[in-house]
Formats: sequence, structure tokens, C-alpha cells
Amino acid sequence: MEIRLKNLTKEFPGEPKKNIPDTVAVSNLSVTIPDGKLVGLLGPSGCGKSTTLYMIAGLKQPTSGEIWFGDQDVTNLTPEKRGIGLVFQNYALYPHMSVYKNVAFPLTNLRVEKPVFYKDGTPVLDENGKQVYRRRRLARTEIDALVRKTAKLVQIEEYLDRKPSQLSGGQQQRVAIARALVKKPRVLLLDEPLSNLDARLRIQTREEIRRIQRETGITTVFVTHDQEEAMSICDQMVVMKLGVQQEIGAPQDIYNNPHNLFVAQFLGNPPINTFKGEIKADGIYIGTDKVLPNSRHLANGKVFVAIRPEGFVFGAGRETLSLHVQSIVIMGRDIVLNGTNPASIKPVVKAELSSDKQVSTGDIRCGIRPDKIFVFDAKTEERIEL
Ligand code: ADP
Ligand code: MG
Repeated sequence: MEIRLKNLTKEFPGEPKKNIPDTVAVSNLSVTIPDGKLVGLLGPSGCGKSTTLYMIAGLKQPTSGEIWFGDQDVTNLTPEKRGIGLVFQNYALYPHMSVYKNVAFPLTNLRVEKPVFYKDGTPVLDENGKQVYRRRRLARTEIDALVRKTAKLVQIEEYLDRKPSQLSGGQQQRVAIARALVKKPRVLLLDEPLSNLDARLRIQTREEIRRIQRETGITTVFVTHDQEEAMSICDQMVVMKLGVQQEIGAPQDIYNNPHNLFVAQFLGNPPINTFKGEIKADGIYIGTDKVLPNSRHLANGKVFVAIRPEGFVFGAGRETLSLHVQSIVIMGRDIVLNGTNPASIKPVVKAELSSDKQVSTGDIRCGIRPDKIFVFDAKTEERIEL
């Protein structure tokens, strides 16, 4: 089910008496989430990710704008009528119920339109000869079949008789996902679902979510503040800052081609190195080092120059940057140099190089891969095409 957000805005009124200002949690957000894809909402804490998700869910009403599922305007529909499955960071399972009952819970009050038959199995028809339908609850056997099928999908079949407290965090989160999926929702919404898990389980569970999403083909919106998490499982991601969409696209495309300095700095670990720089007639400079030619004859001016840690190379290339190397960390395949450069906006410049070369501490010149260096206008922080 394609989800379309049209100029979605959410404002929370402040409390002037307590000096709490109005907050624009989400500002004029327009995004199309393609059918069957896993799309990440990514950004630092407070940028409006959860608010966006809850508006899609119907738990929060937008101040303005529209939400469409396919060709249906759902902006004013209740959460139940939207057909969504929701998973939170803290699992929110019912502690006194077994796993089975937790997963079955959304089905117990569900009413579905079912065809009506006579005792001998012939269909009941109305005066126009059309099949008669009646709304009724699911039968116990129908519920059982759905619970077991969903439990199999998320691989919790062995735990159906346990209580949530008898499961690990990762297993509890799978139960929560099963509970969200059992009603066959049109869209699956996940709000930081891995944040309560330890590092190893987080990676395992995110791969599980990817697998489940692929198997079901359900359109999924995945909220996270963790860029690595988003990069590793999303088909597309929407990067947000202070309620405003910064960029949308495939993770690798955004990484390789960030539109502004915020996005460049938010993606990547170790983060991109940022320097104060200057465009001059004959080149783009960091201090006295010319790091790029000025082949498009850009006007002189102040810029930020950002270089990915993996963008440094030994010797190669005409353009180089001087670094004062303070320490060298060998990490198997790679080495990481921790250095300084007076124009860097952070105290440490990190360079990742392959470990087959000898380096020593002190002053060196590093080559730069041209596809790993980006230039941004110093005022607008927008990318300047080179
Ligand atoms: P995120 O999920 O990206 O961390 P949220 O969507 O929870 O961010 O919040 C976005 C902004 O809206 C924050 O500044 C937050 O303080 C504010 N906010 C969220 N919910 C409320 C609320 N109920 N009342 C007032 N402000 C809120
Ligand atoms: Mg949140």
C-alpha cells in the first residue's frame, strides 16, 4: 500500500505562562512511501520522526496536510479503520498474558465480513441472487491458524506458552511484531524498535525485520535515530532535521551524494571530516592546501569542505591535504589515523586507510579521492556542484 504524505504539519501549542514556546514538530512534509518498500525516517532525537509516524498511524491528528493510503484519504480515519500495525521501542506486551494470547489479542474483537451458508453448504442469496455477507467474529480455529502462521513467520513458535518475562528482549520484540502483523495490516509502522536491545541482538533483529518485511511485502515505515541501522536495512530513507525533510533516497545514494552539510555529517561512521575552506580562482583550498581544482570557475567565497574518512589515500592524486598524525589504530583490514589540521572544525581528523602501507606519526600529506570530498556553501550549507 503506497503511503503519501502531503504537506503534513504538526504544531504543538506552547504554554506562554510557563515560557514553553510553540513547537513545529513536523513542517510541511511531503513524501511518497512506495508500495511494498521498507522506508526509514532518520534524524536526531526531537526531529519529528515519532510525530510523523503517529500521524500516519492516526494516533495524532495533523495541524494541516493530508495522509493517503493508495487512493484513499485516511487523514480523518481512526487508527482501527486505517489498517495499521504498530511496534514500539518498549514492546508494550501484556505481561500477564501468554505469548499466544498477546499475538491473538488484536483478533479477539475483530469482526469480518463473511459469506453466509445454509446448513447443507449452499450459499444464502438475497433477492437479487447475490451472496449474503454478515459481520462476525473470527472462530477460535481461524484465530488459531492466524496466530500460528504469524508465529512461524517471526520464529516464535516454541515460545507461544511462555509469558513475555520469560523471553529475551529480541524475542519479546518479535512477539510485538507478530501482534502487529496478525491482523494483516496494510502498513507496518515501527518506532525505534531496536533501541532497547543490546548491540548483537540489535543487528540480528534488524535483519529479521528485513526478512519479515521481504516475505510479507508489507509497506513498512521504520523510525530510527541510528544512521547505520537505517542505512543497513532501508530501501529508501527520509532524513529529517527539526521537523523538516532534508533528503529522500536510497541510503547509498544519499551517502555518496548528500545535498547539504547536515546530511553529509549525519551519515557515516566515523563521521565525515569537515574543514573551513575557500574557493579561489585556481582551486578550492583548505588552509594553504589546494584540495580540488576550480574547474567550473566558481566565484570566490567561503565554504565548508568535507572529506569522508575513507576518502584519504596514500600518495595518489594531485591534490593532497596536510595532516599532523597523532595516533594510529590498526583494525584488521584498515588503519585509522587520528590527526589534526588547523582548519578542521573538530579537534580530530579521522582517515581510514588500508593497512598494507607503513605510516608513522608526525606530519604527512594525504591524497584525496575526488568522489569522497564535498563542498558546501558556508552560509546556506547547501552542496556546491563541482
Ligand atoms: P523524535 O521522535 O524525532 O525524537 P518527536 O516526534 O517525538 O521527535 O518530537 C518532535 C518535537 O515535538 C520535539 O521537539 C518534541 O519535544 C515535540 N513534541 C512531541 N510531542 C509533543 C507534545 N505532545 N507536546 C508538545 N511538544 C511535543
Ligand atoms: Mg521518537
